[in-house]
Amino acid sequence: MSYSELKAAWNKKMEARKARKEKIASAIPLAIKKPSQRKEKPKKPKPLSKSKIKRLLHAEVKRIVLARDKTCRICMKAPATVPYHIIPRSFLPVTWDLRNVVGGCQGCNFAEHNNRLLYRDKHRFIFGEALYDELWAKAKSGKKFTRGELLAELEWLRKEK
Ligand SMILES: [Zn+2]
Repeated sequence: MSYSELKAAWNKKMEARKARKEKIASAIPLAIKKPSQRKEKPKKPKPLSKSKIKRLLHAEVKRIVLARDKTCRICMKAPATVPYHIIPRSFLPVTWDLRNVVGGCQGCNFAEHNNRLLYRDKHRFIFGEALYDELWAKAKSGKKFTRGELLAELEWLRKEK
């Protein structure tokens, strides 16, 4: 084989290799890159929204209260199945105060649900005037919770047995 023939054969081989490489490269979608070429954003855990934290707080309070009170604290007869707020749960400052939430039965909770404040005297009698008045003062304080405070509250409640 002459030199020129050898050279021609070599060039042909190189052309074929180049074509093969280009064909492969074009077949790979642009999105697929080596991991090192990918710009990976560090995954941040999605922060809990305030309303989600509040739901978790209600659940924790329920867990703690029902573990503590086995019988309805209002009628003292039926088994406790629901968290019963002495001062309505709409008063945020005392919503997760474990002194303001007791085990209640469905019947008592439903009966007093919409008119909870009408039962003030009854509640003061059952739970004591001092405690009731302290809770009521706290309820009216108008305290609002920051996200951080809600999370701190949740952390604290989760440690409660
Ligand atoms: Zn009851």
